[in-house]
Amino acid sequence: MDDNKNDIEALDRYQDIIQQVLAGRVKDHKCPYCEKGILEINFDGSKMMIKCPECGRYFEGMLA
Ligand SMILES: [Zn+2]
Repeated sequence: MDDNKNDIEALDRYQDIIQQVLAGRVKDHKCPYCEKGILEINFDGSKMMIKCPECGRYFEGMLA
């Protein structure tokens, strides 16, 4: 399915951001797609949500 492929591509694009969020940096990340929006990031220790207010693309993942 295309959805799977998109997930993997999204994970690849967000990889650097995810790593930085895990390191405690959750602010001032630019969207890897449009490179204009400042990402809104929510991370509660296990579930991560990353959303761009400009283009509307988002990533959601469980990080156990
Ligand atoms: Zn964007």
